[in-house]
Amino acid sequence: MDKSWETSGVYMLLCRVNGKRYIGKSNNIRKRLNEHKRCKSFAPVICKAIAKYGWDAFDKTVLEFCPVEELDEKETYYIAELKPEYNLTKGGDGSTGYKHSPKTKEILKQLAKKQWADEEYLKLIKKPIICIDTGEIFDSVKSAAEKSGVTHSCVSMALKGKTKTAGGYRWAYLNSEDKVSEETGERMGRTNRGKKQSAEQVKKRVAHWKGKTRENFHSYKPVFCVETGKIFASVKIAAEAVGVHQSFLSKVLHGIKKTAGGYHWKFAKEVFYMTEKEVYDLLVETDAIMTGHFLLTSGNHSPHYVEKFNVLQHPEYTEKLCKAMAENFKDAKIETVVGPVTGGIILAHETGKALGTRAIFTERVDGVMTFRRGFTLHEGERVLIVEDIVTTGGSIREVIDVVKKFGGVPVAVSMLVDRSGGKVNFGDVPGFALLHMDVETYKPEDCPLCKKNVPLTKRGSTGKK
Ligand SMILES: [Zn+2]
Repeated sequence: MDKSWETSGVYMLLCRVNGKRYIGKSNNIRKRLNEHKRCKSFAPVICKAIAKYGWDAFDKTVLEFCPVEELDEKETYYIAELKPEYNLTKGGDGSTGYKHSPKTKEILKQLAKKQWADEEYLKLIKKPIICIDTGEIFDSVKSAAEKSGVTHSCVSMALKGKTKTAGGYRWAYLNSEDKVSEETGERMGRTNRGKKQSAEQVKKRVAHWKGKTRENFHSYKPVFCVETGKIFASVKIAAEAVGVHQSFLSKVLHGIKKTAGGYHWKFAKEVFYMTEKEVYDLLVETDAIMTGHFLLTSGNHSPHYVEKFNVLQHPEYTEKLCKAMAENFKDAKIETVVGPVTGGIILAHETGKALGTRAIFTERVDGVMTFRRGFTLHEGERVLIVEDIVTTGGSIREVIDVVKKFGGVPVAVSMLVDRSGGKVNFGDVPGFALLHMDVETYKPEDCPLCKKNVPLTKRGSTGKK
């Protein structure tokens, strides 16, 4: 932490493990953060969290330096706008508390995921940066973060203009010739640390955090009816379906009440056979996820390339992944697993084996998705749809339509990789993925890897679905 944080302002702690945030104010931020570090602050919830995850798991950001007399007002404002769930009060004098919805929690989870992806990506491109206040040049965000004792994402956010400073310093990228740009040079001539920020700047920052959470959010936490085996995309949808109030169903989910609408309910777990990290590691190990500089069929460039058959060619791994894809649906009374050709055949087969069900596939006839080879479904047949890599979800929506057309009930979609960055959704059919990715693509003229002269690899297909 930098000495410049020895002043009054509003700060935020962001837990990178679970994406939860805490917002606080102090007339000496640095001192207050040290109190947090030693678990000596008067905020019990964040204290517990710091004890649990460790101080290093928290990103520290100064939201705004401001005079002491404005602290209450500013803190209240940020808490109201950003709704951090480690805060028990609304800020200011510390009055009424409020609770967070499962939706907000899910948003924050997505937000945390997004940050990891950013970090990984920035590590890859290693764009040199300059500390505006000291003039020191670093070859990457990572090294700048290490040197100044703040986290990588702190610096990254300051670079993107999302925070004014990181570690008390201002930061900027060097230009394409690794030189200080005119704009940065101008900024170096001005000192604005600790100055009051304009209403416009504050509004922009808040809009950033809010926008980010909204855009990354794709579904509520799914719930599952024990008796019928039906999975709903959210508590709200489930409550509506059985005609009870949402809060009533929530109580059952949290074990406070036994039944709601005459049924028992559980949260549908995302994955417990394999963790997301295990899936990612396996795909990297088998070269199903490659890192470098790739030309996609769309003409765009990307630092990542996914070739699913690099992992699916190993029956042992396919079996393991499909067991994980099936895990969630063991009690969902699935009768048949359906996947679209080609990867879907293999996945349907292995997932069906894990669930003890039939496995069939859809294919295209004159461009139209359908069942062939005499495959059929009986009226009301409970179907799990599987797919390998999903980007836009177009093919899956077609499979859902085929299942419905044949009289089946699409219970859920189980995906190996959702690389839409959480944007894909299938309407009333909930989607689950073993791995979530947000793959960045660039137009050739904007590609940072081209600018770094990283050799370009041509791939046959993007695997885009
Ligand atoms: Zn490129």
